[in-house]
Order: sequence, then structure tokens, then C-alpha cells
Amino acid sequence: MYAEIIASGTELLMGEIQDTNSSFLASHLPALGLEVRQATLVGDDLEHYTEVLERAWKRTPFTFTTGGLGPTVDDVSREAIAKVFQEEVHVDTQLLETLKTRFRERGTDMPPHNIKQAWLIPSAVGLPNRSGTAPGWWAEKNGHVIIALPGPPRELYDMWEHEVAPRLRERVHGSVVLTRTIKTLGLGEALVDEMAGPILKSKNPYVGIYARPDGIYLRVIARGTTREEASGLLRPVEEDLRHTFQANIWGIDDETPEESVGALLRQRGFTLATMESCTGGMLADTITNVSGSSHYFKGGIVSYTNELKVASGVPAELIERHGAVSSQVAEAMAAAARLRMGADFGIGITGVTGPDELEGKPPGTVFIGLAHAGGRESSQQRFPANNRTLVKRRAVTTALLALRRILNAAS
Ligand code: ATP
Ligand code: MG
Repeated sequence: MYAEIIASGTELLMGEIQDTNSSFLASHLPALGLEVRQATLVGDDLEHYTEVLERAWKRTPFTFTTGGLGPTVDDVSREAIAKVFQEEVHVDTQLLETLKTRFRERGTDMPPHNIKQAWLIPSAVGLPNRSGTAPGWWAEKNGHVIIALPGPPRELYDMWEHEVAPRLRERVHGSVVLTRTIKTLGLGEALVDEMAGPILKSKNPYVGIYARPDGIYLRVIARGTTREEASGLLRPVEEDLRHTFQANIWGIDDETPEESVGALLRQRGFTLATMESCTGGMLADTITNVSGSSHYFKGGIVSYTNELKVASGVPAELIERHGAVSSQVAEAMAAAARLRMGADFGIGITGVTGPDELEGKPPGTVFIGLAHAGGRESSQQRFPANNRTLVKRRAVTTALLALRRILNAAS
């Protein structure tokens, strides 16, 4: 069964924010049997929004809108649905009560213009919003549904999980699509292709190979008439691939390198310390994005200048002899971080983010050092150098996955 997504907000059209709500919906709908046929961005102009919405509603059983449920005049999703359905809005007493309570809990009275958020039309019911004030709408006419969701991603995710997905599970029957992404590192695309073997020719489940900055991904897509059937098709292929790629697998589905490494460090009771130069703190930032990282992360030093590297325990003569961007200094940074902070593992990163070269080394050159009880090691990387943030991001991912490899080998 088909679905469409309409994300509204002039700031999306201006490129000021990225439309992550549509990606979220697009990645979650197939598992519930809805195939996304179109995703559209519209501004906050009521007339234009109504036009786009009407077209979607007429041709598609399920249309999802995001944004435009706030209290201001440029929040026009409710008005657009009312116009498409040719119905009048009224204030729903129950929604109004909930809204007033929500404001009272926050210690204020409801501002008068928020009354819009208690509006309904005869063909819609409100969807409770656990993390914000605006209820969503489940509006249905002529057998076609429009589901209006809030713009703030946190509110949208909560409403999806608690209100929308359960209703869709009851409503949608037909084909269910399940996917599994297996993330590997350390093998080239051609080798992954060869190792995966004949399964790549299968239509259902379909197995695709994608090269990403953090390795090669294998994506399994299985279709069935029920969840059980799709999962029965997916499972043996997943097991087969897990068996084939074993130690090269570093994550499944949405798992990130920092979560994957964090889980291993925590399981084994090891601690980590970092010293980074060209990544400017991104490594420590990334590590601490994982909840519970305080269990294993001791801390990080951003030693951007040579003086600070030396003050933090890197021998000055190493910098003089090999340059700050060198495997010797990366290893010394890792060792000094480990020693100073009393950690089991140390990571050091030094490199050239560009666009200019440094010490005669081209932009994109990065050395990653690792220190542990068994000694020190390092690797040299050469990332595409047209974007500083991208070089930093890749350096961080590579460093985390290098540590993961050592942790795995130590098991
Ligand atoms: P509010 O009550 O905050 O006004 P709303 O439902 O009216 O919520 P919008 O006004 O459209 O939603 O957007 C509010 C904020 O939510 C935006 O400033 C943006 O930060 C975020 N947002 C909106 N749409 C999207 C989207 N498609 N993807 C990611 N973030 C979004
Ligand atoms: Mg708004």
C-alpha cells in the first residue's frame, strides 16, 4: 500500500534545516507495509500547501505531514487539512482541557493564540503529544488518511512510536518489508561482493552492498505478506552473512562506531583516554554522545599546538625529528594520554585537515595512534580533503573502529 510524505516549513525550502523527519518516516514505514511513493517539501503558504496536500490525499491511502502544528499564523497544517476535506474547524473541549493542563504543569497560563492547538474537524481525532503541546491529527475521509505530525523531531518520534505505529499495525495489511544492515570494516567492496556469494542474486530477500565512510554495508531487504513471513525470509540470510563476515562486522542497523566501541569497553571493564590535534575535540565529543560513556571514558586533551603536545607528555624531539603530523607523534599522543589519565587504552590523532598542506604533508593525511598494555601502534590515512569537517569525521570513525579491532582481537 502506498504512502506519501509532505514536510512543511519555509526554513526547509531555504535550506536552513535538513528534513530529517521525512527520512525518519521513510525508513520506518516499509516495516509496517507502507511503500513511500513520494516525499515533498512545501513552504508555509496555506494555498500552496493545500494544493499539494489535496493531490496527495486523492491518490494515496496514507499521507503523512510533518510540521506546521504550532500556534503561530505560519503553522497551517490544520487549516490545509480542513480545506482539503472541506470541513470547518472547531475547538475540541477535551483537547483544550489537556492543553490547559499542559501549560499549568509548566507553571503558566495557556497563551490565547495556542487555542489553535485544540482545533479539530469532524473527520479528525487528536493524537496525544507526550513531549510538546501540539496534538497531531489522524484525519480520514473517503477511505484515505492524512496523519499530521509535529515538526520538532523529538515530538515526531514519540508520536510515531506511541500513537501512529500502533494504529498503522492494526490498519495496514499486505506486504511487510523488513531490513537489516550489517556494517563491516577492513574488506574492500569487491572482496565483500565475492565473499557474500550467490545470495547477491536473490530477489527476496534482496542483498545490496554499499560503500560508506565507515566501511562496507550489506543491506538485506525481505518482503512478506506478514511480519512473520518477512522475518522468516530475512533471518537465515542474516545468519549466513554474520557467519561469513564474523570479525569484520562492527555494527548492525543504526549502531554507530562510538556505541559499538563503548559497549565493548564497558563489557570488559576497560577505560579510554584521548589526545587529539586536527580533530579539535570531535573524538571526545563523539565518544561522549553515548549515554553511560562516563563508565569508560576518562577524558581527552585537545593539543592543537606543538607546545601543548609537549606539555601534555609528547617528547619534543619526536616532533622535531618526524614532524607533528607523523606516526611517531600519533603513537606518543596515545601513550601520553593513556599514561597521564591512567587509562587502559589511549587514542592519538594528528593530521592535516586542509585545505593547505602542513609539514609537506598533503591535506587529508591523518595518523591514528593507539596505546595499550601490549604496546603502541599507528596507521596512516589519506582521506579526500575537500571538506575539513568530513576529514575530521572520518578520522574519528577510523580511530574508533581501529580501537574496536584491537578490543576484538584481545578477546
Ligand atoms: P512548533 O510548535 O515548534 O512551531 P510545528 O509542528 O509547527 O512545531 P514547525 O514550526 O514546522 O513545527 O517546526 C518546528 C521546528 O521543528 C523547526 O524549527 C525545526 O527545528 C524542526 N523541524 C520542522 N520540520 C522538520 C523536518 N522536516 N525535519 C527536521 N526538523 C524539522
Ligand atoms: Mg511551528
